[in-house]
Amino acid sequence: MNIPKTPGGERPRGTVRDGSVCTSQPGSPQVPRAKVKRILAILDELYPFDGVCFLDYDHAQPWQLLFATILSAQCTDARVNQVTASLFRSFPTLEAFAVAPISSLEEAVRSTGFFRAKANHLQTSAKLLLANFGGQLPSDIDQLTSLSGVGRKTANVVRGHIFKLPSVVVDTHVMRVSRKLGLTQNKDPVKIEHDLMKILPKASWIPYNQQIITHGRLVCVARSPKCGECVFNSQGLCGG
Ligand code: SF4
Repeated sequence: MNIPKTPGGERPRGTVRDGSVCTSQPGSPQVPRAKVKRILAILDELYPFDGVCFLDYDHAQPWQLLFATILSAQCTDARVNQVTASLFRSFPTLEAFAVAPISSLEEAVRSTGFFRAKANHLQTSAKLLLANFGGQLPSDIDQLTSLSGVGRKTANVVRGHIFKLPSVVVDTHVMRVSRKLGLTQNKDPVKIEHDLMKILPKASWIPYNQQIITHGRLVCVARSPKCGECVFNSQGLCGG
């Protein structure tokens, strides 16, 4: 798709020629289907989805992605990748995590922040995976969220990347940018997840997360969004 360089504000923001709408749950806007389509087309052009996860892990050891995602809370992916490179060398199996002195796990994950809680989550999850799931990562969201430190965001990362199950991951970038684009009015991540599941086609669920994260890092930066450079602004698709 060729995105024309039109100046912002030529058309009232958020309006489209196509009057059809996608409905979402109470408290959320009725989002015109044409608007959703245009947003997704722009994301595909700006940030082609390559399926590569931002977090590094050994694909033969899928539990590593779960652990890396637990560590990514309030931490950058770059920092997590630095930490897990040595963490997974020192503790190469779930059994190693389960029996490790908690102080050595804490030391190993210290630079990711909240290191005591995170070390505890890793060890408890390792024990639960061994005790309840035969050392295998479950794909069921209720089973995943029964693990320690695993909420819906972390569970959906695993479901999307490991099991290729359509999943909407709602992190801080997805919350912020989705609201600005008018795709939800909710602030609660679970409500936002359900809003996005209703208005986005399933094929877009996994790409949308990574594309919005990239846009949130490069353009729609939390503290100082670069609206003057943003195509969603020039296309009249953002309420700001
Ligand atoms: S950078 Fe500005 S125009 Fe672009 S999505 Fe963010 S708030 Fe909207």
